[in-house]
Amino acid sequence: MAIAKGKKEYKMYNVKSMKAEEFINDKEIMDTLDYAEKNKNNIELIDGILEKARLRKGLNHRDASVLLACEIPEKVQEIYSLAEQIKKDFYGNRIVLFAPLYLSNYCVNGCVYCPYHLKNKHIARKKLTQEEIVKEVTALQDMGHKRLAIEAGEDPVMNPIEYILECINTIYSIKHKNGAIRRVNVNIAATTVENYRKLHDAGIGTYILFQETYNKESYEKLHPTGPKSDYAYHTEAMDRAMEGGIDDVGLGVLFGLELYKYEFAGLLMHAEHLEAVHGVGPHTISVPRVKKADDIDPDAFDNGISDEIFCKLAACIRIAVPYTGMIVSTRESKEVRDKIIRLGVSQVSGGSKTSVGGYYAPEPEDECSEQFDVSDTRTLDEVINWLMSKEYIPSFCTACYREGRTGDRFMSLCKSGQIQNCCHPNALMTLKEYLVDYASPETCKLGNELIMKELANIPNEKVRQIVVERLSKIEQGDRDFRF
Ligand code: SAM
Repeated sequence: MAIAKGKKEYKMYNVKSMKAEEFINDKEIMDTLDYAEKNKNNIELIDGILEKARLRKGLNHRDASVLLACEIPEKVQEIYSLAEQIKKDFYGNRIVLFAPLYLSNYCVNGCVYCPYHLKNKHIARKKLTQEEIVKEVTALQDMGHKRLAIEAGEDPVMNPIEYILECINTIYSIKHKNGAIRRVNVNIAATTVENYRKLHDAGIGTYILFQETYNKESYEKLHPTGPKSDYAYHTEAMDRAMEGGIDDVGLGVLFGLELYKYEFAGLLMHAEHLEAVHGVGPHTISVPRVKKADDIDPDAFDNGISDEIFCKLAACIRIAVPYTGMIVSTRESKEVRDKIIRLGVSQVSGGSKTSVGGYYAPEPEDECSEQFDVSDTRTLDEVINWLMSKEYIPSFCTACYREGRTGDRFMSLCKSGQIQNCCHPNALMTLKEYLVDYASPETCKLGNELIMKELANIPNEKVRQIVVERLSKIEQGDRDFRF
């Protein structure tokens, strides 16, 4: 629906509408930013919002935007403390590990921030064959990974859905030593309901699609050509994915392209829309920032955000959507990940390569196919060691979706408080597998000490006993236990 005001026509905000410009409504975002700006020093209102947030049921985009705008040091400190507490309550000290697997960088789009753009003639174009996928996945399994996010450019001829499905099938079929990829998340371009159904039937975990920017005008400038230039088709993709049976979807914005306050409000409005229409919000939110890449200079974009704002964004997301996982990739350095992780991050990637075929063999310098420069270049073992040294439990758990706990069933597990009797033991058992099969001696020692200590944090006595037995079975060679 549209209303005319003066000469300009405004689209009406409607959270339940299936039209992009109505559920991500520019006027509603502008009004929200205005409201947030006017109230950023309104202590009474801010205290009320923080009180609401302490109920751990989340915040709407208006309230959350006030928190993001607030610059009163004591209140910002309260925002950080609350984010930390909410993270502990919902995710404990577990951090799930994954790696991206780049299948193909052929792309017909013109995204101005991405090196895959069609006009880039000096990036090496590559597409993995099924034999190469076996090599890549074997290398990833040998690192210890159990969960992948597959990535591909958009090219209906080079990377049709049949290719993606074949790759997923190959990935799941590879059983090398004790290794297995147990969850394949998919980050490919917006597609049709029919194709989403095929992805669902292929047993994918989360379907991830970054909005890049919620601002339609900027979106159209940043995506001048190719199928991705259609803002509505891209923005409505998650509704089609859900219609196709995928109920774990991952949202994200590429921070740096537009004003972060605008993106934050848009992101939350998208989450509210999914909840209102499908009864389940996003499974994850990713917070990538634009990075240097072949033919791409991040300084060419005016809206880069400081590390401090980046952390504040993460804390506000954590408070606004407590049941939604948050993902930080190796686009961020160890130093930034050190700061941000405690504010609400639930998943990180480790040992990542963004080139096509980069895990099996390093690329020759004159054949670079990378999507962007990785800032955290540590090995997976180093990342695991680092997490444990900070008292986090690295988790390779993939149990939920394999036990059918997706969408609202996963959310009710979160809400029931049973996570500590379920996710916590699963984290310990999958960490144990990692220690036995892949860890360096030093990481192994640290991990075994951590597991001994963390066993005491399983509330249910019976569950604890079962975990102790299973840990010993893992040492004897059994694998893949889960609650
Ligand atoms: N082709 C798919 C699509 O169009 O959504 C997604 C795959 S792409 C490999 C994954 C994501 O990388 C993009 O959605 C974008 O946000 C991000 N990306 C692209 N260029 C980047 C850059 N220079 N720095 C950081 N991230 C970038």
